[in-house]
Amino acid sequence: MRLLLVEDDPMLGDAVQSVLQQESFAVDWVRDGEEAELALAALPYDLVLLDLGLPGKNGLDILRDLRRNKISMPVIILTALDAVSDRIAGLDSGADDYQVKPFDPDELAARIRALLRRRDGRVEPIITFGLLTLNLATRELYFQEKPIRLSLREFSLISLLLERPGATVSREQLEERLYGWNEEVESNAIEVHIHNLRKKLGHNLIRTIRGAGYMMVEKP
Ligand code: CA
Repeated sequence: MRLLLVEDDPMLGDAVQSVLQQESFAVDWVRDGEEAELALAALPYDLVLLDLGLPGKNGLDILRDLRRNKISMPVIILTALDAVSDRIAGLDSGADDYQVKPFDPDELAARIRALLRRRDGRVEPIITFGLLTLNLATRELYFQEKPIRLSLREFSLISLLLERPGATVSREQLEERLYGWNEEVESNAIEVHIHNLRKKLGHNLIRTIRGAGYMMVEKP
């Protein structure tokens, strides 16, 4: 999942970015309103974390423009403790949730998961597919009732493939949602992760669709 973090406070931005990366999110961090708009125009983010007081264009205007353009990606606003009126304005302008600074990054991660779950129409953080059970909150994968150890990337990759099982996802789509700007990506990175997942799950669960991408299949 790829998130956009819009925050001009360097300490807070850095802390949020690193915690969320450890939670398996790809995080692009921009520090002012104009950069935020460029990023939002360039990529279909899964979710936006939006500070309101920003240099350039302020967060509320960015949010209103998003919603005016019928862009429905979930937005969590990041606000100061004393700014109740900002929070109300934010929610009424189309924000889905808010976090009051200073906040616990783990709580923020849980709010992100909750919003993404709702976006995907899931009532619990668990995806079951064939003999696979993936817990999106704890990042535990069970295959044929046995726990499978996954790296953060493998977890992200399999959660993307399980988002719409039976649909083909291209390598470019996977790369786009797996890696942020600040991350070096080897040209064969996705192939390597798929290869490693197949070693753990058998070779038939993830099917390669020639020239198109990858697909999860229930009955190999
Ligand atoms: Ca600020």
